[in-house]
Amino acid sequence: MSLQVAALHSSIRERIINSTHIQEIIKMAKWECSVCGYIYDPEKGDSISGIPPDIPFETLPDDWVCPACGADKDSFEKMEE
Ligand SMILES: [Zn+2]
Repeated sequence: MSLQVAALHSSIRERIINSTHIQEIIKMAKWECSVCGYIYDPEKGDSISGIPPDIPFETLPDDWVCPACGADKDSFEKMEE
């Protein structure tokens, strides 16, 4: 019985560790326009183009362009922390 409880506890702990790990993976990166230096911050979105907050750069529509200079997504570079 106590063995089962210990096993349950360790599986709960694993789940917590895993979910923390997943959150690190999906932490959204900022992207910088290599043409004009505009920074797309996924926590803010892009109010000029009607992109709401919490949209990762990767999931922006392919026809999304830099709201500052009109460069396409290919002109953006991921910013490493
Ligand atoms: Zn730009």
